[in-house]
Amino acid sequence: MNQTTLIIAVAIVVVAVYIIYRFVFKKQKVNEEILHEPFHEQWRKILLQRVLYYKNLPDDKKREFEERVKLFLSEKKINGADVEVTDTDKLLVAASAVIPLFAFPRYNYPNVREVVLYPNSFDEKFQTNDEVGQRDILGMIGDGFMSGVVILSKPDLEAAFNGTRHRSNVGIHEFVHLIDKADGSVDGVPEILFTHSYSLPWIKEIKKEMKKIKSGHSDISPYALTNNAEFLAVVSEYFFDNPEKMKSRHPELYKILTEIYKQHPDDYV
Ligand SMILES: [Zn+2]
Repeated sequence: MNQTTLIIAVAIVVVAVYIIYRFVFKKQKVNEEILHEPFHEQWRKILLQRVLYYKNLPDDKKREFEERVKLFLSEKKINGADVEVTDTDKLLVAASAVIPLFAFPRYNYPNVREVVLYPNSFDEKFQTNDEVGQRDILGMIGDGFMSGVVILSKPDLEAAFNGTRHRSNVGIHEFVHLIDKADGSVDGVPEILFTHSYSLPWIKEIKKEMKKIKSGHSDISPYALTNNAEFLAVVSEYFFDNPEKMKSRHPELYKILTEIYKQHPDDYV
């Protein structure tokens, strides 16, 4: 190695170390700012009014939930596409992320960097304009160049967390897809949550419940029939949004979901 090559090599190393240092430093700075602020009383009020899951938690779990919300908000950007993003919106996005993984405190969606709120539901070309065909998509997770981005319709997110129980929740739906995607494939088998030994009983349960939906003997949305991934997302919405009802109407499905998510949301109802 001659002297010039050595100087170039040293320069490259110095620049690389500087870039890594800046990246780590910047990330830590963002974390510190949000994480060290106390949880605002106003935020607490919003969660109490809108998020039943949070409202029904015992006090110590509420504090844990708040810390997880802060952690999520400290690492992810939440932006609006021609729409204002309020504190309520930010909290509802974070709640959608925290609820399904409440029993997995170490996981904070490394596959997500940004959540974009849309002013309305949209079509496959991300158009929200009424004149451009059907716009029936309420949310989606990005792929390809959009990887790491989640899109949610703001009014549908707000309707999902209106302080009452239903069986649908677009926020939880999309974050469950992201949990499913973390193992590399969106296939309805979220391997980061369970070992392979769970897969078979879960797939069997999906088939059994799909039969009931097809024959009209189920109150689960027929959208669950689309494929296994949609099945997981749809029944998870029901599981977290209306656990008591799901437990009484679908006890076996409910039980296997408690094993997958390692939580019993009906405990705090
Ligand atoms: Zn879906």
